[in-house]
Amino acid sequence: MTQLELAREGVISPQMELVAQYEGVSAETIQHGVAQGTIVIPVNKNHTNLVPCGIGEGLRTKVNANIGTSSDSGDIQTELEKLSVAIEAGADAVMDLSTGGGITAIRQAIMSKSRLPVGTVPIYQAGIEAVDKHGAIVKMTDDDLFRSIEQHARDGVDFITVHCGVTQRAIDRLKKQGRVTDIVSRGGAFLMGWMLHNERENPLYEHFSRLLEIARQFDVTLSLGDGMRPGSLADATDSPQIEELLTLGELVQRARDAGVQVMVEGPGHLPINQIEANVRLEKSICKGAPFYVLGPLVTDIAAGYDHITGAIGGAIAAAAGTDFLCYVTPAEHLSLPDPEDVRQGVMASRIAAHAGDIAKGVKGAADRDRKMSLARKRLDWHEQAELCLDPQRFNRVHGKHETAGKACSMCGDFCAMDLAEKYLGISVSRC
Ligand code: SF4
Repeated sequence: MTQLELAREGVISPQMELVAQYEGVSAETIQHGVAQGTIVIPVNKNHTNLVPCGIGEGLRTKVNANIGTSSDSGDIQTELEKLSVAIEAGADAVMDLSTGGGITAIRQAIMSKSRLPVGTVPIYQAGIEAVDKHGAIVKMTDDDLFRSIEQHARDGVDFITVHCGVTQRAIDRLKKQGRVTDIVSRGGAFLMGWMLHNERENPLYEHFSRLLEIARQFDVTLSLGDGMRPGSLADATDSPQIEELLTLGELVQRARDAGVQVMVEGPGHLPINQIEANVRLEKSICKGAPFYVLGPLVTDIAAGYDHITGAIGGAIAAAAGTDFLCYVTPAEHLSLPDPEDVRQGVMASRIAAHAGDIAKGVKGAADRDRKMSLARKRLDWHEQAELCLDPQRFNRVHGKHETAGKACSMCGDFCAMDLAEKYLGISVSRC
């Protein structure tokens, strides 16, 4: 049985117990959320070294780090290094988006080393293998695609992105819309090319039941991809995006009816003032399914700093109810991220997620900030390091300059915290 089926039967699985302990909520809360579909626990039965992670309503906002090779760059060792950097930096999940080198070997190596849930986009491999086998992506057969999905599921992948909502109707809307940046999702572009060339409906939509059978067998969580996500602010919240979302809402219900866990992916590039509306639309149309957003990026012109652009959007999205943030690295739009880009991307998204959690009232989130402020007032550098999101960086920056007293080198003898304490005589113990 899948976690969803167990939850519906009133069973609290060991994975639900572990998620409850980690989140500091009751196991019944997790079981109820999983049964309703507002929480997912991506746990493929074949991912044996996994530490379960819950994603959804009422839980801490989670962060995903995309790793993987491209056709131009990357190898197995570098990808394993990125995996360990992502884990060390505090990511909650990773996606292997490899499109170059030995895709299967890289995935299997990542699976064997990752205690985090691992996600993939099987159509990448199916499309690339179709080029080798038949000469073009558009020659990919339905069986090629579903074989790839089944192989990923057998390898233990916990969640897969499937762009089921890229339908002929959505493509019609895209043509009429006249977008600035058409389609920026790789999976969405593969499918659109295939559908237009073959004059057929999307096989992931047409044969959704076949997809559900595979997902149910291994308890793979479906992450319904947003192939029509806006790739520029000018295209945000337009008709192809909403058309796709309406389809995804229907598929969420079909997945739940089949006992398959499901979440929904979202933008992309969005102006700040459209983020909350997008979160509300997803939650309403997709009946509370966990929302997984890429960024969102709040401006198109910050290449080189898009981890910051994504963190601004991510914080607002998380505060509005988004459950899962896909990180953006400083390399976004420019190159394949290296391990240092991965680290910066994870940290930026963790800051966004935590800021959102404070606004959402997630248990314990604001408390950590209060403790940090009290430690700051006491000039307790050890406790501050323990409470901050990146203790290593904290210690490195704090230790850069020698100081005469307890205060840091920013104000030295004129430390405001110290002076206020001295003259006001307010004891930290009374705070
Ligand atoms: S020296 Fe300045 S920056 Fe450093 S702890 Fe005191 S008030 Fe804060």
